[in-house]
Order: sequence, then C-alpha cells, then structure tokens
Amino acid sequence: YNGSSKASESVFKIPPIKFTKLFINGKFVDSVSGKTFEAIDPRTGEAITRVSEGDKEDIDLAVKAARQAFDHGPWPRMSGSERGMIMMKFADLIEKNVEELAALDAINGGKLFSHCKAMDIPGAARNLRYYAGAADKIHGTVLKLSKGFQGYTLREPIGVVGSIIPWNFPAIMFFMKAGPALAAGCSMVVKPAEQTPLSALYYAYLAKLAGLPDGVLNVVNGFGETAGAAISSHMDIDKVTFTGSTEVGRKIMAAAAASNLKPVSLELGGKSPLLIFEDADIDQAVNIAFNAIFYNKGEICVASSRVYVQEGIYQTFVKKLVEKANAWVIGDPFDPRVNQGPQTDKKQFEKILSYIEHGKREGATLLTGGKRLGSKGFYIEPAIFTDVKEDMTIAKEEIFGPVMSLMKFKTMEEAIKRANNTTYGLAAGVITKNLNVANTVSRSIRAGIIWLNCYTAFDVDCPYGGYKMSGFGREFGLDALNQYLQIKSIVTPIHDSPW
Ligand code: ADP
Repeated sequence: YNGSSKASESVFKIPPIKFTKLFINGKFVDSVSGKTFEAIDPRTGEAITRVSEGDKEDIDLAVKAARQAFDHGPWPRMSGSERGMIMMKFADLIEKNVEELAALDAINGGKLFSHCKAMDIPGAARNLRYYAGAADKIHGTVLKLSKGFQGYTLREPIGVVGSIIPWNFPAIMFFMKAGPALAAGCSMVVKPAEQTPLSALYYAYLAKLAGLPDGVLNVVNGFGETAGAAISSHMDIDKVTFTGSTEVGRKIMAAAAASNLKPVSLELGGKSPLLIFEDADIDQAVNIAFNAIFYNKGEICVASSRVYVQEGIYQTFVKKLVEKANAWVIGDPFDPRVNQGPQTDKKQFEKILSYIEHGKREGATLLTGGKRLGSKGFYIEPAIFTDVKEDMTIAKEEIFGPVMSLMKFKTMEEAIKRANNTTYGLAAGVITKNLNVANTVSRSIRAGIIWLNCYTAFDVDCPYGGYKMSGFGREFGLDALNQYLQIKSIVTPIHDSPW
C-alpha cells in the first residue's frame, strides 16, 4: 500500500463550525432537555464539537411548526414558480458556500473533500434546481367521465414530511428528499444521521437566507431510537421518507402502520452484483469494478460487493485488480492525493473488520488488504476476497465498507441466476460489448437500476430505488415528485350536454 500519507495533517484550513443547535421554526434553538452529543472526526476519533440532541419533545415542536407552515403558511399556497424561485436562490447559496459545506462532510464523514466539492455539494444544488424547475409544472388531468359528469384531478402536496437520512452522503441524501418535497409544497422535519449532524444545519440556515418561510424546513439532530422513532410514530406527520438499513426500514414501516398509517418510502440496503463478461476490455472492467465497491470507502448502498467474472479472463482480471489496490492511497480526506478516507464511525469500522475476519474464517481467501491502517482514526485497507461462495456471510450480508467478494462464472444463464440469488435488489452492473448479453442480463436481473459498462452513474433525472428488500418508492427524476403529492379527484354534473 502506498498508505504513507495516511492521517497526514490536513492541507486545507478547516473553517470554524458555525451551527450546532436544532433548527425549528426558522430559529436555532437548544434542545428541550438541553442535552448535546459529540460530532466526531473519523480521522482521529476525536470530537469536533458538540451538537444539540433532539428527542421526542423537540420533534413535537418541529412538527408543530411544520404543521402550522403547511396548514396556514404561504409555502403550499404560493405559485409553483414562486416556490421555484426561492429554491433556485437556495441552490445559488449552496454553490457560494461549496468549500465550507464540502469541508463539513469531509471532517465529519471522512469523505474526500475534492469529491464533496466537485460532486456532492454541486449535486445538491443541481437537485434543487431540477425540482425548482418542476414546481410550476405540477398539474392533474381533465376527466370526461360517463354521460352527465365531468371532473378533474389535482395533485396536492402530501403535507408534513418526516425525512430520516443516513450519514454516507449527507448532502445528496438531504436534497434527494428535500428537492421534490419542497417543490411539491410540503413542509419538512429532517433528522440527519447522528454520525453527520453538521452540514444539514448549514442547509437550514441557507434555506432561511434564500427566503424559505419559517417552519417549512426544520432540522432536528438526534439518535434513531429517540428522535427518529418519534418521527415514524408521529400522528401529525403525513409521510415518512427514509434511507438507511433494511433493519431500521422495517421498524419505521411498522411504526408508521401502528400510528397514523402514514405512507413511507424506503431506500434500503443492497448486495449489488457486477457481472463481467469475457469480451470486456479488462482494464476498463478493473477500473469500473474497483470504483464500484471502493468509491466513498464502500459506504454506498449500491456498492457492488459481489463481482462475478467470466472464467476466461478471471486470472488476468484478478492480477490487475491487485495491482490497482496496491496503488490506492488511503489517508486524510483533505489531501488531494488520497483516494480513500476513514470509515465514518467507530461502530461501522469495527463491523467491517469483523466481517473481514468472518470471511477468512468461512474459508474465503483474502487476496489483499483488509487490515486497519495506522492506530488513529478509522482507516481500513480495501479488502479483496477470492474463493467466495454464495452461502458465505460476506457474500450475503451488506457490509457497507471496502470489501469485495470475487466469484467466477461460466455461462450467462448461470451468472444471472447467481446475481439474483439475494434478498436485495438495489442495483447491478454488466460489462460486455455484446448487445444481446447486455439486453438479456439487464432485463433478467431484479434490481432498480442496471448500469451497462459503467457503475454509480447517478443523475437527478434518472429514477432510483429498490426491488425486493432494498425498499420501494423512487427517488430522483420526476417520479420522485409523486412521493410528495397525492391525487384528489373533483367530479361535477354537466347538464344539457349532448356528450
Ligand atoms: P446505518 O446502519 O447505515 O447507520 P441506519 O439505518 O441505522 O443506518 O440509520 C439511518 C438513519 O435512521 C439514521 O438517521 C438513524 O438515526 C435512523 N434510525 C436508526 N434507528 C431508527 C429507528 N428505530 N427509528 C427511526 N429512525 C432510526
């Protein structure tokens, strides 16, 4: 490993943290209990600062503000183009503060500063603009109906939205939900992940600066079992949108059902396969496969943790993959030479290392990596396993870390069958030049998105979401707007019409 730059001193001057309280009804406030918790820097495991810890009482206050903003405030009542203009301004402010926002996710999430600055934060602004442009194009249909009646449909905002998000992409997760929800005219209570509480507060501040009315966007930091659970079981929240683990998704859906039957959309875990056929350009395939799992240190729900390589190219592929792993630089996420920063938190770090141990015990061969790097912070060398069997834990469970399982296959039919042998169905990748293989595999794999000769190619205009236990509901694209709208039909008699 060229891990020499690990945990090196930051070359970027990190700005002081500005916002640490809860944001409710347009103001930064302390939590009712006065409690706070630490925001951790995963480069060292030490605290950056303390942030207010919200609980049920704080969620209640935020919901009250969001309810008032929705039931009586201007946001859902103004024209779509007025909402769009405020959202455009919000996007401009995000771009203006791109470095500071990128630094927050790098210092708190261990994410590469360069990626946050070039992709995550501009992506958040682009997301807002996309939905801002849709805000004045939300309309229903005219219904001719049977003789003597006519009608029309309205697409109305669903109401107060609870948004519970994870820590791996704090900016994208925030806006993939806030973009369409705000365009629809909803108000929101957002609970960021306890691992990454900082940047969401900054967004709340910028939203206010852009002119978003008080109460429309509330941010309550806190823990899942307290603040998160208070959202999913709240009687005054009209919809919950969640991204996170399948285990927690199940709890959220149960709590929603047991309270006011609020609809939920869930974007959950994955164990996504990547199928590499013999006709592939091997160097390109190695690059795609490597980034598909090691991008963002493997902390990405679509990570292709199961890589199936056709037997004719297997040996060469493995050799080149190891060479690439050896050139991979792990270290301080602010250092521009670095490819991979620390895992986001200690719990996750320990879980990944224990999966790696488990893989070895189950009989898989650890070809390279898989060890902790250094003695400070949560750095792990990318791990590549061969001789993996589908019934091994590392091939079945979502690890959410830099761990690749390599498997060999003979025929397309076999590869499809094995790729589908999972309870998940979030994403899949196929690398081939053969159009028939590409078409057949794309249509045969049960997953919400199939990447052909690429991977993790996300776009706000491309719907995204799970099959099977990876959840339901689509994010991105105009489909996502429907998650935050409901249809009302209005019917009236029409007299003396011959039609
Ligand atoms: P991960 O396993 O990736 O950390 P989780 O699914 O545990 O993801 O967490 C994602 C989000 O769900 C976080 O904001 C977390 O606080 C929240 N959460 C965790 N447990 C619950 C729960 N029981 N009810 C509601 N939200 C929860």
